[in-house]
Amino acid sequence: MTEIIFWVLIGIIIGSFLLERWLDYLNMKHTVPVLPDELSDVFEKEEYRKSQLYKKENIKFSFISSTVSLLIMVSAIGFGFFGILDQFLAERTTSYYALVLMFFGILAIVSDILGISFEVYDIFKIEEKYGFNKTTPATFIGDKLKGWLLMIIIGGGLLLLITWLYLATEELFWVLAWAAITLFSVFMNMFYSNLIVPLFNKQTPLEAGELRDAIESFASKAGYQLNNIYVIDGSKRSSKANAYFTGLGPKKRIVLYDTLINDLETDEIVAVLAHEIGHYKKKHSLKGLIAGILQTGVMLYLFSLFVTVPEISQALGAKGASFHVGLIAFTILYSPVSLVLGILTNMFSRKHEYEADQFAAEHFKASPLVTGLKKLTKKSLGNLTPHPKYVFFHYSHPPLLQRIQNLSAIQANT
Ligand SMILES: [Zn+2]
Repeated sequence: MTEIIFWVLIGIIIGSFLLERWLDYLNMKHTVPVLPDELSDVFEKEEYRKSQLYKKENIKFSFISSTVSLLIMVSAIGFGFFGILDQFLAERTTSYYALVLMFFGILAIVSDILGISFEVYDIFKIEEKYGFNKTTPATFIGDKLKGWLLMIIIGGGLLLLITWLYLATEELFWVLAWAAITLFSVFMNMFYSNLIVPLFNKQTPLEAGELRDAIESFASKAGYQLNNIYVIDGSKRSSKANAYFTGLGPKKRIVLYDTLINDLETDEIVAVLAHEIGHYKKKHSLKGLIAGILQTGVMLYLFSLFVTVPEISQALGAKGASFHVGLIAFTILYSPVSLVLGILTNMFSRKHEYEADQFAAEHFKASPLVTGLKKLTKKSLGNLTPHPKYVFFHYSHPPLLQRIQNLSAIQANT
């Protein structure tokens, strides 16, 4: 049985690697001889060529980094690394909590050290080459240190809590852990902008001027409070622009990147803001939170069934059933389920994007949203022709062409 599970784990890891590379390959090869009319004015000829090169370079990069990860993961499992680490730590501490913290701590450090070189290459080589990178080495190092600190405090704290719940209440474990994680998610959803974002970025209320006046007149018509609109200094890290809606109830806010405000005309910014207000009005953020909570419940329930099976931990080299080694094995066994859930999540997200676009078109105007989206795509050298299969698996937003067609259809009907 242990051997079967061992090969299932290896099979899942290799299978998901092959699936991702196949999708990347399809996406890389997917172009059209002549762009449809809707997209013909997004790029100049030279820029279009550049956008294709950027896409290819990213796919090549993800091929190399994922191949390295695959080799490391398969050898770690093949050589029983997780079991060896477990024994090594068990001989050096009598506290199970210390063992769990050190076990995951060491895995996190090792994977971060392996990941950093790829991150540096991505930011300072690829993004730099295409003119996107604004991150200085000091910002990069600061981000890393703050990220580690958060991981120690939040990650370590949650890990200790879950371990304690597991040891104290075996039967009820999954329900209590679910309740704890749900409370934590709701708290984070509400206070993320107040507690976490300020560690990395400055957020300032939108300042007075032509843009604020334009937004004010629209926001009051749409029934949205202006004091919940913030500008964030995204230009500190990248020239790419963005906007998002976050939080619940009184903690809701719309965040516009400073880069968005620089690159778009007033009308276009109001249209993007109208799209974000659409997300709020249609309760997309709340729906996403609830879906996430339900998924966590399913996952914890399945984990509670699997963790007591000794063969699962033994497949990774542990002596018997083990909470922490079992957690690693379970994460791999669960990844096909999470792949399917990811597809469903993306389907809902793309539907929500259409709904938010529709809100913007009906309550403001469709045409500035179209030109705004085109500018954002141009600025980020976005892929105009993603492969439909790639979109199905990975896109949280519909491709530009579909969004423009959807907006034109709404405009034609009103
Ligand atoms: Zn959106």
